[in-house]
Amino acid sequence: MIRSVYVLVFAFMIALLALCAILARRSEKPIGRFVSLLCLSLIPPVLGNMIIIGAQRRIPALIGCYCYYIGMDLIMIALTGFTSEYCKPNSSSKENGWKAPVWVYALLVLDIIQLTMNPFFGHAFTLQEIEVYGLPYFQMVPLGGQTYHRIVCYGTLLMIMFIFLIMCIKMPGIYREQYAVILFSMLAGAIWQTFYIFSRTPIDRSMAGFVIFGLLIFYFTIYYRPLRLLDRMLANIVSSTTEAIFLYAPDGICIWANEPGIELTGIESGEYEKAGKRLEEFFGSKDELPEQSNNELIRKSGDETWYYVLDHGSFYDEKGRKLGSYIYVRDITEERLMLEREVYAANHDALTGLYTREFLLQRISGRLKRNELSEHYIALIDVSEFKIVNDIYGKEFGDYALTSVADWIRSYSDASCIYGRLSGDTFGSCIPKKLFIPEVLEKDLSDFKIKKGSTEHHLVIHIGFCDISPEDKDASILFDRARLALDSIRNDYKTHIAFYDSAIREKVRRNQEISSELSAAISENQLIPYLQPIVDRSGRIVGAEALARWIHPDRGFMPPNEFIPLFEENGMIVDVDKHIWRCACRILSGWRKSHPDLFLSINVSPKDFYLTDVLSDILALIREYDLDPANLRIEVTETSMMSDTDDRMKILEEFRQNGFIVEMDDFGSGYSSLNMLKDMPVDVLKIDMKFLSESKENSRANTIVKNIIKLSRDLGIHPLTEGVETREQFDILLDMGCMLFQGFYFAKPLIQEEFEKRLTGAQA
Ligand code: C2E
Ligand code: MG
Ligand code: MG
Repeated sequence: MIRSVYVLVFAFMIALLALCAILARRSEKPIGRFVSLLCLSLIPPVLGNMIIIGAQRRIPALIGCYCYYIGMDLIMIALTGFTSEYCKPNSSSKENGWKAPVWVYALLVLDIIQLTMNPFFGHAFTLQEIEVYGLPYFQMVPLGGQTYHRIVCYGTLLMIMFIFLIMCIKMPGIYREQYAVILFSMLAGAIWQTFYIFSRTPIDRSMAGFVIFGLLIFYFTIYYRPLRLLDRMLANIVSSTTEAIFLYAPDGICIWANEPGIELTGIESGEYEKAGKRLEEFFGSKDELPEQSNNELIRKSGDETWYYVLDHGSFYDEKGRKLGSYIYVRDITEERLMLEREVYAANHDALTGLYTREFLLQRISGRLKRNELSEHYIALIDVSEFKIVNDIYGKEFGDYALTSVADWIRSYSDASCIYGRLSGDTFGSCIPKKLFIPEVLEKDLSDFKIKKGSTEHHLVIHIGFCDISPEDKDASILFDRARLALDSIRNDYKTHIAFYDSAIREKVRRNQEISSELSAAISENQLIPYLQPIVDRSGRIVGAEALARWIHPDRGFMPPNEFIPLFEENGMIVDVDKHIWRCACRILSGWRKSHPDLFLSINVSPKDFYLTDVLSDILALIREYDLDPANLRIEVTETSMMSDTDDRMKILEEFRQNGFIVEMDDFGSGYSSLNMLKDMPVDVLKIDMKFLSESKENSRANTIVKNIIKLSRDLGIHPLTEGVETREQFDILLDMGCMLFQGFYFAKPLIQEEFEKRLTGAQA
């Protein structure tokens, strides 16, 4: 009865192994085939034992024995095949693999052959009849051939266990588990089995060990997913991201954070609960985070670290129960700093560190719109003739001077000031009225020196101020007003600050009116040239300068200083000049017969060179009025030559080649050096007495004039002195060798008829 139960148990175990074999075979894993074979190979020994237990006669018991012994060899063959596949070297760990040598299989096959020879030679085992549970039981009795069988089987098993042991040692920790489980189940099975073999206990219960071994192999190779390995891998992945990740239990307690998360919250690793609390300090309660946290920036308290909540949410099981939640946070400090640096660079002037023009206007306009500047002034700060500083001392000193001006503006400002650099040498500021003390400012500016090493330069700085009314919303309009104030003192070296007041407002209105009247003035001949005689050493009139006058129907007689500077500024000077040039040509053409030798000098404004093709315009007039170019003299000023010098020189040279005489007007008013003169393509040098009389000592002025005259003669340039007012001056100039003269002493600018009368009078 008990033996029948064993038979049933063994049959059940066989069924289990068969089931594993079928399932393993169906598995898509390559190892499945080997596992299936191994499970199948475990069946014969179990089956053999089942037969032996059930057999009460010799022959079935003998069949059971063969089944068992040959089955053991089959197990070893299948196990060797399985091990070769399981431990085969893969591409990533070549040195860690193992492949069974063919001779192992050969030895096992040889054992099977040897065992099948037993019926003939009776060398391997025989059967002994004993009684178990009251029934005959045929127990195996090993003979000599059995020794080979045991050596081969145990040898193979030991070898395989050794291979698994090596794999356990060599493999990374997380993989070790799979090898260790198989190794220990093999060891346990072998010991159990050995116990039965050598104790010769009937009914081999160790067969259960075979089945367990089969099931373990099946489970670990086919179904087992190394969860610890997965855990580790996932943890490694999340730990190596730069984002901080926090995981929460359903009750809202933080249960895990990765490395960046630990760093972010400054906790010791493991104190995840604390991390949750710290996170709340930064971002508020997790539940308060908006659904879509895009673009949400959160500043970490304390230092200047910036974080961005990338994502947050909860996960649920299939029944909708909350399993936990998570927050992803990214440290965006670097990106933020970079952005800040870029914004800073875009809004700040690289040289002075002040706001750029656009940013300054934007900042001021913003505050104007919020009516925050009612107690402020707008100030436009301008460095006069800064180009000279650059030209004389070099760019480095120029840069230093500008930074010094910027520093000075800073020193004058408080937190409520907004200031910046508007252009190369102009700065803008919005300062509170209480900081504005005119006396202090004037005093500061009257002695504004830049000192660098042994170089020292006095900078002339002018500031135009304007008041801000509640209606003012546009910063650039305010700066335009401040500029108008500044323009009113631009040439004044003693006054440094000016206010945009009613007088300036009136002037602007008047200028606008004058500008709007110009085209009518030209077409109605209100704009006419007055002629100021130019005489030679004998006092004879040899020519005249055409000087514009506006005979205004309402305003009356207007000298050029009332409209020329305005039109020079707004560019309308071209219309004035073209008109005067035409008038001059018309006069010359009228003189062609009566005074063919007389010349007329016409003024060419620096702006003309920008706004029109001066040469072709004048050539066209010459052609139209059929004139000799030698009778039309071209007066240009030093300022014309200060920019695009090469181009300008070329134009003047072309004038000369076309037969014109080119005159350099107002020599001494600018800053051009005598040295420059030798390169200038000019025929006449007009030296203005006005500039020289500013010199305190008369004798020194005389020396300068004398030398200029001498130098120009040496260079083959005719000297002409204008602004001669007295007989005495004339005499001195004659002495100095001057050749041409113009001035009130001879005549003021006259209307054409008057001039012509003088002409005939003088000639008479
Ligand atoms: P400028 O070309 O240097 O003309 C000489 C100026 O000196 C004239 O002033 C003339 O009246 C003045 N002047 C002549 N002799 C004496 C003198 O003995 N003493 C004093 N104190 N002044 C004397 P004006 O006519 O008022 O012209 C002033 C400036 O306006 C001119 O200086 C010239 O730069 C400009 N201008 C006049 N007409 C024209 C024009 O048609 N086109 C352009 N672009 N500029 C013009
Ligand atoms: Mg002139
Ligand atoms: Mg002049």
